[in-house]
Amino acid sequence: MNSNEKTIEKFDSHVMHSYKRFPLAMKQGAGRRCVDENGKEYIDFGSGIGTNSLGYCDEKWADAVCAQVRTLQHNSNYYYTEVQAEFASQLCGITGYKSVFFGNSGAEANECAIKIARKYSFDKYGKGRHNIITLVNSFHGRTIATLSATGQDVFHNYFFPFVEGFINVTANDIADLKAKLDDTVCAVMIEYIQGEGGVNALQQDFVDAIYDLCAERDVLVIADEVQTGAGRTGKFLAGEHFGKKADITTLAKGIAGGLPIGVCLAGEKCAEVLTAGTHGSTFGGNPIACAGGLAVLDRMKSAGFLEDVEKKAAYFRSELMKCPEVASVSGLGLMIGIELKTKKAADVSREAFEKGLLVLTAKEKVRLLPPLTITLDEINDGLRILFEILEE
Ligand SMILES: *Cc1c(COP(=O)(O)O)cnc(C)c1O
Repeated sequence: MNSNEKTIEKFDSHVMHSYKRFPLAMKQGAGRRCVDENGKEYIDFGSGIGTNSLGYCDEKWADAVCAQVRTLQHNSNYYYTEVQAEFASQLCGITGYKSVFFGNSGAEANECAIKIARKYSFDKYGKGRHNIITLVNSFHGRTIATLSATGQDVFHNYFFPFVEGFINVTANDIADLKAKLDDTVCAVMIEYIQGEGGVNALQQDFVDAIYDLCAERDVLVIADEVQTGAGRTGKFLAGEHFGKKADITTLAKGIAGGLPIGVCLAGEKCAEVLTAGTHGSTFGGNPIACAGGLAVLDRMKSAGFLEDVEKKAAYFRSELMKCPEVASVSGLGLMIGIELKTKKAADVSREAFEKGLLVLTAKEKVRLLPPLTITLDEINDGLRILFEILEE
């Protein structure tokens, strides 16, 4: 048995089998490449589902994280820490939001958003205005509440009863939205680009309709930017592409460069909704995660970083469109969905893995979420492998 196989055997004997995993035991990484236990190298176009936004073990990020580990690794949220204050202040500075609640994951950030929306409405209007509209084909997380929010029937199994109070509207169907946005609704929750749902961007007129109708009725807009946020699309928030700022925006995945954190950002309207004792998290806003987050923000604020993401994304997309097997390329920036003409995305991801390239899938598409620091040479190296497979 080789090292990869040994690790996999031990792993599978003791870790629950809740994922369909590739037979790859990852040992270490540097930049945009990682190595498995047998020493085989991979170019990473998935970056741990968009988490390793600065690539593997970025030097400045690692220094910041290690320095924090040696200073103060954790303290309860009954006390204050400078690093959490600085991260919150910089997040608000970049996004224009008023206040932040920190959890540990995307699902937790969304749980917080859901609680804020319901309490905002309860405080102002009393009971009965608790429903939240989410979109068909959305994905908001794996906790019971965020699964309930997720508008995909495949997720609504086994774990009954689900949480009441979520109503699904078909994406881009303004009539459906109008019909369902009644006086029982306190919020509309969207992904500007549905990630797990297949890398599908919402249409501008539908986004406009959501914001207009919600403004008329004092219904909050929640933007789940867990996947689209933190520079992924070439803007810090994907909402900027649509000219919109939601009442609440959630972030996670890439915001701390691969450390677990969930961010719930609230604007003026609902910045003070959560009062002492109404919400909490033991690890939320952990100093190490915040130090990682600050290193990510520092890089994103550096001159030309996001413009560079947009340039690389444009190159990536135009190269992909040259491949005859590619039917269309969706998403924005470095959140890329590839619709294929004849091949199956799952087969392509498997073959790519065998040839030393890591890619993701989303529904019928190949999905790419490369590190934002990827270079043109690395894009070309990865595409060479991908095209070899697609042109077979
Ligand atoms: C990944 C994802 C989540 C869930 O995040 P976790 O960190 O896995 O809890 C929620 N919403 C969107 C849009 C996501 O892509």
